[in-house]
Amino acid sequence: MASAGSEQAKKPYCVISADCHVLEPPDLWERRVAPKFRHRLPRMELDDRGRKTLIVEGQRPTRIRDFSLEGDDLERAKSGSWEASKRHADLDRDGIDAEVVYPNRGLLMWASPDSEHQTEMCRVWNDWAIEVFPPSQKRSLPVAAIAPQHVETAVTEVERVARLGYRVVFLPVQVPDQPYNLPLYEPLWAAIQDAGLPISFHVGTGKDPRTATGNGGAILNYVWHALSTAIEPVTQMCVSGILQRFPQLRFATVEAGIGWLAWTLWVMDEGYQKHHFWVAPKLEMLPSEYFRRQGYATFQDDPIGLETRQWIGAENLMWGDDYPHHEGTWPRSEEVIARTMGELSDAERRQVLGGTAAKLYGFELPDEGRV
Ligand code: MN
Repeated sequence: MASAGSEQAKKPYCVISADCHVLEPPDLWERRVAPKFRHRLPRMELDDRGRKTLIVEGQRPTRIRDFSLEGDDLERAKSGSWEASKRHADLDRDGIDAEVVYPNRGLLMWASPDSEHQTEMCRVWNDWAIEVFPPSQKRSLPVAAIAPQHVETAVTEVERVARLGYRVVFLPVQVPDQPYNLPLYEPLWAAIQDAGLPISFHVGTGKDPRTATGNGGAILNYVWHALSTAIEPVTQMCVSGILQRFPQLRFATVEAGIGWLAWTLWVMDEGYQKHHFWVAPKLEMLPSEYFRRQGYATFQDDPIGLETRQWIGAENLMWGDDYPHHEGTWPRSEEVIARTMGELSDAERRQVLGGTAAKLYGFELPDEGRV
């Protein structure tokens, strides 16, 4: 799987980053999208005062500010290649054996409120990502993007991506005005379960993540967004009966951290018991038990969340470096792991750093001495 460099040979575990990104070719969608969507793609335009503005269908226009980066920030901005040699060199440098690969600009695939537009954006990504990360290479596992709004179309695409060799489907965390607890999604859950593919809900998808502006806007968006968008799919999957009706379905929140998760599991159970007279459907198990059976969550640098792991289940947690994004840990992952995981047992570190991701996503780990 990984190149066995001298440093890697010394590592005690296989390390799988459950959250990485690739910078797509700048003209990927322009070249491949159906002509009727070409003029509707996310793009940069100059406003009437000559300022650069990002135009995304379904989102408010956002000014693009020029700023200069240095050091690690600059390196991150230049990384994320789809070329195997460059990408593998970056993984090697940070001690990463394998990775799950999400889009970068493609995080906007669900921005348009037009379901047909979303479907076309996803199709282009799905065709491309499996070309550059084919199943024959074992190190980078791309996710297949699914536009869920029109369920029948989504089911067809789930079946197609399974045939292409994908092993994960990526759904937006929110579908505006059509939440995941609606019964209309049942055929989609059935198709995903039948295909044996885990679901990823990666933050920043399905709704404009930049809702706050002005003073403090960057941090307001960062904190609110991770928290609100992760709680939504976790609670919808656990309390609506989806996981009870589809017991083989598995899902993960990605890049939302885990500091909020123990409380969320607790309060779902508390609400289920104290509001029992309002609760429908009745469940065979407590909501938190469905999460422990079928749910997962990734984090990067979250010592608070790791302190609460006994309330969640260490086997439900997966570390990711979010390469090459600025909120990630690359190229300092080993330092972050050492700083945040000192209290974890050896067995817990093996699970969190790669063992759970290997099982969930089907990575082959030939070096049995390590995991
Ligand atoms: Mn990410």
